[in-house]
Amino acid sequence: MISFAFSEEQQLLRRSIREFLEKELRPVSAETDRDARFPAETIAKMGGAGYLGTIVPEKYGGAGFGKVEYCILMEEIGRVDASVATILGAHSSLGSSALLYYGNEQQKQLYLRQAAAGEKIISFNLSEPEAGSDAKSIKTTAVRDGSCFRISGSKMWATNGREAGIFIVFARTGGRGAEGITAFIVERGAKGLTFGREEDKMGIRGSSTMQLFYDDVVVDGGNVLGGVGNGFKVAMTSLDVGRLSLSAASLGMAGRAIELAISHARRRVQFGRPIGELQAIQFKLADMGMRSRALHYLVYATASRADGLGPNPAEWKRSDREEMTRDCAIAKCSASETASFCVDESLQIHGGIGFTKSSEIERHYRDARIYEIYEGTNEIQRLLIGRDMIGRGWQ
Ligand SMILES: Cc1cc2nc3c(=O)[nH]c(=O)nc-3n(C[C@H](O)[C@H](O)[C@H](O)COP(=O)(O)OP(=O)(O)OC[C@H]3O[C@@H](n4cnc5c(N)ncnc54)[C@H](O)[C@@H]3O)c2cc1C
Repeated sequence: MISFAFSEEQQLLRRSIREFLEKELRPVSAETDRDARFPAETIAKMGGAGYLGTIVPEKYGGAGFGKVEYCILMEEIGRVDASVATILGAHSSLGSSALLYYGNEQQKQLYLRQAAAGEKIISFNLSEPEAGSDAKSIKTTAVRDGSCFRISGSKMWATNGREAGIFIVFARTGGRGAEGITAFIVERGAKGLTFGREEDKMGIRGSSTMQLFYDDVVVDGGNVLGGVGNGFKVAMTSLDVGRLSLSAASLGMAGRAIELAISHARRRVQFGRPIGELQAIQFKLADMGMRSRALHYLVYATASRADGLGPNPAEWKRSDREEMTRDCAIAKCSASETASFCVDESLQIHGGIGFTKSSEIERHYRDARIYEIYEGTNEIQRLLIGRDMIGRGWQ
C-alpha cells in the first residue's frame, strides 16, 4: 500500500504554520507589495519561530525537517505571499542547502548556524548579465592568490541582495564550462563587494533583487564551498531542492486562488443568483480543482521520494539523482503553470474587481509570473525533462 495521507504531526505542523502566517504575514502582505518593502519584522518573527532554519539539522540549530515538511511550510507561505516564498527560497532552499550538502564542519558551524537562527540571510549569486539560462557561461573570475582567491565580476538578479549577510557566489577558477566553476562563501562587508541597481519588479515586490559587483574581493581559501571546480554541482543540487520547494509554493498559490474564486462566486449575485450557480463558473472551478489536486500529489510524492533517498542529495546514487532532477523539473514546471492558470481563472471569476488593487487576487496574478522564469525558466525545465527521457527512457 502507498500511503497518501499526512501524519498527525504533519497536519499539526500545517495548522501551526497557517495560524502563524495568518497572524504575522497576511496583514502586511498587501502593504509590503505596494511599497516594495522587505517584510523585515515578519522575517525576524519567522526566524524567532524557527522557520528560517527548518531544513537545517538540529545539531546546527535547525528543525531538521524532511522535504515533505519543508514543502508543507512552502505551500503555506505560497498561499499567503510569494515574496516571502522567494525570500525563503533563496535563503533556505538554495543558500542553506548549498551549505548543508557541501559545506565542511567549520562552515556549517559558523554560516549554517547563523542562517538557521535567522541572524544572517543568504543570497545565492549565480546569474550574471550575460549568463542566465546558460549558467555554465558565467564570467566572474576567482583567481588564486596564495591561500586566498580574488573574485571579480558582476552578478544580476540576486534575491535578498539588499538584506543578506552571507553570499554564496559562483565564479570561474578554471577554463570554460561547468568544470571551471567554484562556489565561495562571502560575508557582507567584504571589501570590494558593492551594490548596484535594485530591480523595480511587477511582482514579488516584497523581495529585493539586486545587481552586485565583486571588485577584487579577497576570500580566504577556507571559504571555498564544496571544493575547487565543484561549483556547478553545488548550484545544480541546490536548484533541485529549490525547484521542489518552488512547486510547493506554487501549489499554495493555486489553492489560495481557488479559495478566493469560490468565495467570490458564492457572494457575487448577477441575473438574480450567485454566479457560483452558473455552470460556466463551476466549470472554471472544476478545471482549477483538477489541476491543483493532481499537483498536490505530484509535489508530495516527489518530496516523499526524495526523503526516502536520504537527507543529502549529494550522497545519492547517480541514477537516483538524475531521476530526482527530472522529477523536480517536472514539479516546478507543472506547478508554476498550474499557479498561473488558477490565478488567471480566479481573476476572471472576480470580474472587474479582480483587476483592481482592492482585490487580493491582483497581487497573486502579478506574483505568479515569476514562478515560470526563475530557478531555471520553464523552457529550460522542459529541456532537462526531455533530455532525460531521450537519454534514460521513461519509467
Ligand atoms: C525576480 C528574480 C529573482 C531572481 N533571483 C535569482 C537569484 O537569487 N540568484 C540567481 O542566481 N538568479 C536569480 N534570478 C535569475 C533567473 O534564474 C534567470 O532570470 C533565469 O534563469 C533566466 O535567465 P535570463 O533572465 O537571463 O533569461 P535568458 O536566459 O536570456 O532567456 C530568455 C528566454 O530564452 C529562453 N531560452 C534560453 N535558452 C534556451 C534554450 N536553450 N532553449 C529554449 N529556450 C531558451 C528562456 O527560456 C527565456 O524564455 C532571478 C530572476 C528574477 C527575475
